[in-house]
Amino acid sequence: MAKRDYYDVLGVSRSSSADEIKKAYRKLAIKYHPDKNPGDKAAEEKFKEAAEAYEVLSNPEKRQRYDQFGHAAGSGGFGGGMNMEDIFSQFGDVFGGGNPFESFFGGGQSRGGRRVIRGSNLRIKVRLTLEEVAKGTEKKIKVNKQVICKVCDGTGAKDRSSFHTCPTCGGTGSVRRVTNTILGQMQTTSTCPTCNGEGTTITNKCNACHGDGIVRGEETISINIPAGVSEGMQLSMSGKGNAAPRGGIPGDLIILVEEIPHDLLNREGNNIIYDLHISFTDAALGTSVEVPTIDGKAKIKIDAGTQPGKILRLKGKGIPEVNSYHRGDQLIYVNIWTPKALSHEERELLEKLHHSPNFRPQPGKNEKSFFERMKEYFE
Ligand SMILES: [Zn+2]
Ligand SMILES: [Zn+2]
Repeated sequence: MAKRDYYDVLGVSRSSSADEIKKAYRKLAIKYHPDKNPGDKAAEEKFKEAAEAYEVLSNPEKRQRYDQFGHAAGSGGFGGGMNMEDIFSQFGDVFGGGNPFESFFGGGQSRGGRRVIRGSNLRIKVRLTLEEVAKGTEKKIKVNKQVICKVCDGTGAKDRSSFHTCPTCGGTGSVRRVTNTILGQMQTTSTCPTCNGEGTTITNKCNACHGDGIVRGEETISINIPAGVSEGMQLSMSGKGNAAPRGGIPGDLIILVEEIPHDLLNREGNNIIYDLHISFTDAALGTSVEVPTIDGKAKIKIDAGTQPGKILRLKGKGIPEVNSYHRGDQLIYVNIWTPKALSHEERELLEKLHHSPNFRPQPGKNEKSFFERMKEYFE
């Protein structure tokens, strides 16, 4: 099979600098790395082809020879014969020290090649009153969770001398396996089975936590709830979840918001709805009434001749939007109370008024229809 031009392989021009060549190769090496393309023979071929091209073009002497004579110049020096071990050993200078794939593809989170264990997330529910939702609040909540073992300070070891560098991996947390395949030697990197990637082993384990570095415990956590949250919303506090074994990264605390229904006020989005009942004499004569709001009582005026179904608006007396200055309104829905039982005297008085012309319904053009009121309500 004819070899492809090395410049074409790396996708660079003949005049490209050493740096450009290195960059181009780095990209291809990551793209076609066997750890990233397990079992993909085509990717492996590309990986080898790129490595070979880089091997030649990164060396000024070989590059010059290649430029002059092409592949024919390679009979003695280059052009095949690179095995996987050679390719991997090349990575040191390409990636500036160390094999980057240990952290790229090694699985799990890595810090300096070693696996860092992460604590699990902790979920709790927080029940909030409408007032708390409207103003925001700070909740101090006692949670049962994994905490750092105080006896060993989270290390899991009895004392300092109990720590040993893992003999299997030499502290790197990963092991390399070189296997021979038809295409040459293949190297794979996997988590060290002795230390589970931690890089250290403990001979004398802490009695309190049996070497985990964590124990079950309680912690009071102060949670800041911003104003405007709503039922079902999830807040998250990074690092406040379960502690991780042996000094790993703690998980997050996930807070699920639940609303406690208010006795009198109903929430609808950022608005608050209040159902007001007035007598028909108040509706006819006009009055002023007190209504509950989340900020305490508010006085509102009922005009003489108010019709049932009228919606009054207390601007800005609703729920704020999270992280915004905008605040909803309180809407007051006016209901006219019709007496259900009447005394003899009351009946006589009403019957006297019954034939009064003003008591006959006379819906005028200025009266808003039910439909219009609903539209106003939902705007
Ligand atoms: Zn301990
Ligand atoms: Zn190990």
